[in-house]
Amino acid sequence: MTQRSITPDFSAFEVPIDVWSEPFWEGGKTGEVRMPRCVHCATFRWPAGPFCPKCRTQPVEWVQPGQARIYSFTILPVRGADPGEAPGARIPALVSFDEAPGVRLVSVLVDAEPASVAIGAPIAITWHPAANAVVPVFTLADPS
Ligand SMILES: [Zn+2]
Repeated sequence: MTQRSITPDFSAFEVPIDVWSEPFWEGGKTGEVRMPRCVHCATFRWPAGPFCPKCRTQPVEWVQPGQARIYSFTILPVRGADPGEAPGARIPALVSFDEAPGVRLVSVLVDAEPASVAIGAPIAITWHPAANAVVPVFTLADPS
């Protein structure tokens, strides 16, 4: 039987939220991925911060970044916690977005067969409860 990657328990994880990143976490509550883009020069500003790294202005708009794809990943084998329990794998992954140059988001790829994971594969993002927010988690999307 093929072992699919593990979904971690985020319930004790405290997300560091500040005034600049809050719209990202608020978007997650409705299942939406939004990224900050400079109003003046259209440079994406991620991690979110007070000034555009390119033109140093402040106005920002939050936009959908397009299709997420695996940019990089690693497979960490996990032994079963109890004798007889099946081993699994954790797959930390970095994703890029088709319409947000330079933006990378890190989380874990869950419920994936390790042998089927590849750079460039389209990813769906779902949101899982953490201590003070919901956090993005990746799954393999149907190729389209
Ligand atoms: Zn700018």
